[in-house]
Amino acid sequence: MANTGNNKYKILVIEDELNIRSFVSTILDANHYQVLTADTCSQGLLVFSSYVPDLIILDLGLPDADGLSFIRHVRLNSTTPIIVLSARSGEQDKVTALDLGANDYITKPFGTAELLARVRAIIRSRHQLSHPGTEGPRVFVLHDLSIDYDSRQVTVSGREIHLTQTEYNIVALLSQHAGKVLTYTAIIRRIWGEADPGSIKKLQVNMANIRKKLGLKPGENHYITNELGVGYRMYHTEDPSSMHA
Ligand code: CA
Repeated sequence: MANTGNNKYKILVIEDELNIRSFVSTILDANHYQVLTADTCSQGLLVFSSYVPDLIILDLGLPDADGLSFIRHVRLNSTTPIIVLSARSGEQDKVTALDLGANDYITKPFGTAELLARVRAIIRSRHQLSHPGTEGPRVFVLHDLSIDYDSRQVTVSGREIHLTQTEYNIVALLSQHAGKVLTYTAIIRRIWGEADPGSIKKLQVNMANIRKKLGLKPGENHYITNELGVGYRMYHTEDPSSMHA
């Protein structure tokens, strides 16, 4: 039944808990990815350098070393995308992992739809990066929200939203990384350059104004969600949680 054609994306799963490792492997395999597994950091590095996977799913709590050290090691000379698996309480680990160069994280426990959405979002953005001739879309659409990058115009249900330049830059940045969480530090660097003590407050104020202008009521998370203690994520159209968040 296995299609061993070499056109499949290869995903390396590094996780020491057997239950989670086989759960993830089974889902990926059923969705036509080729799965490689490792249960320690050192085995992960070995498989990584031997098989050159397209994507790595990495547990942070490994028996022989911290998953963060794996990210550091891989990022010395590779841009292979990494999705981190992290415990619910591990906000600081998530921030550190993302700032070290991990592309995204999934909080345990997680479901099939979420895992596949994250994997697809990463593989799609890699595909666009590696095919620079096929220029990315100049218009971003998420349900009734639309962003035209050429005219810098944002509309909701056809109604134009008047954003300041900074607000537009934040929305555009998040949309260009849709499906992926950007840490507060990463957003601040891209929008204002180096961070100062007031930066987070400045970002929060801008974000509150953006939410208001987009017509979001407090607690509503259409389009953009605040991953508490970590950063902001704009949903991707195919993200299952974007519909009823
Ligand atoms: Ca673990």
